[in-house]
Amino acid sequence: MPRILLSILVLLVAQHATAAQPAAKKATPVAKIVVVQPQADQQLTGTADVRIKVEVPEGATDPNAVYVGLGGAPWTGLKQDSGEWTAQIDTTLVPNGTQKLIVTTDNKRANTSINVTVANPLKVFFADLHAHTSYSDGTLIPAVAHEYARNIAKLDVFCLTDHQAAVDDNEWLDMREVAFDANEDGTFVAFPGLEWTKKWGHINIYDPKTRIWPADPQEFYKAAAEAGVTTKFNHPGDGTVSHDGLAYSEVGDKSVELMEVRQAKEEQAFIRALNLGWHLAPDGSDDTHSPNWGNVKSWTGILAPGLTKRNILDALARRHCYSTLDRNCVLTFTVNGASMGDIISEPVKEVKAAVVVDDGDENDATAKIELFEDGVVVQTHEADTTDCRWETTCTPKPGKHYFFVKLTQADGNLLWSAPVWVTVAE
Ligand SMILES: [Zn+2]
Ligand SMILES: [Zn+2]
Repeated sequence: MPRILLSILVLLVAQHATAAQPAAKKATPVAKIVVVQPQADQQLTGTADVRIKVEVPEGATDPNAVYVGLGGAPWTGLKQDSGEWTAQIDTTLVPNGTQKLIVTTDNKRANTSINVTVANPLKVFFADLHAHTSYSDGTLIPAVAHEYARNIAKLDVFCLTDHQAAVDDNEWLDMREVAFDANEDGTFVAFPGLEWTKKWGHINIYDPKTRIWPADPQEFYKAAAEAGVTTKFNHPGDGTVSHDGLAYSEVGDKSVELMEVRQAKEEQAFIRALNLGWHLAPDGSDDTHSPNWGNVKSWTGILAPGLTKRNILDALARRHCYSTLDRNCVLTFTVNGASMGDIISEPVKEVKAAVVVDDGDENDATAKIELFEDGVVVQTHEADTTDCRWETTCTPKPGKHYFFVKLTQADGNLLWSAPVWVTVAE
């Protein structure tokens, strides 16, 4: 095209664009939402007051509805009250850490958000995260399993994990619907799961968006890491054969957070995996194939600020859990204040371990607590009480280490905490 013609064309297009502009409507003024309370970056615990001021310029209208949420649901409606909108929110319903306090109104242009820090103490909730129905090789149907887990076994958290290859589209739809229906934050948390089942080894997948997963283990690791789902090595035996002898995989370490640890052999597998470099928390789910969902012999204690699906999924992703052969033994283990499951990134000078045990049953006294450093017992605390506290200090050699505790009750029941990983400064 000759240059002159091109210039004319550009000119015409430009004129057209300018000509179109006056026709565009001047934006109508919009109410401005100002968060009065809390303040940006404020630390919130428990029930928190929220106060919103609405500045309405001339020509703008007041909102008819205002909602607030911490990073999303649950949403709390605010009430208009002498020039302000107010509400109280329960901050224990969402995970600890930085959260966006989002204010949304019936005018999509009149929204705002600020960052706050949520910091609530962790409580323990008891879960079974590995169970089957007739959708694979167990009995009965998901609706019955959830009813049983909630009302008979009285679990706090339940996840049904039928074998992935056995589940068809109708069954997968039902598994998800039943879990979503059964979930009631504050009372009972349920989410759907699947057991990826290969000769190579079995892996549970929690709350996956799809039932289609690659058959090759390395491809599976990649897909799981990309999907951001939490997964678990199931029944690893002593760890020398299952899951390729637990050969370390960097992408695998990003996708697998849990491993079943319920007896001596699986403890060996757990230590083997940790020594190979995996970052895993022990899980005590039972893998029942009978109609006794949750009324089993081992469970998982999950540490979370409150019983909500968001909190529980977040806690599992952060490895904030322990395996327990006792149905109600509360165990916390911290290193330098960091929860079990955490990786302390700042180098430390010494390791201050603290264990708190509380079992509501008179007969379930703690007999001993063993502190493991890099898979070896380095200190033992003998006890004879149902509520037991132990604090101790170690000064390991410079470099990377992990610590966890194993608790033995007077009746022989065992509990394993998730490790805390530390780097000891030179
Ligand atoms: Zn299995
Ligand atoms: Zn299974």
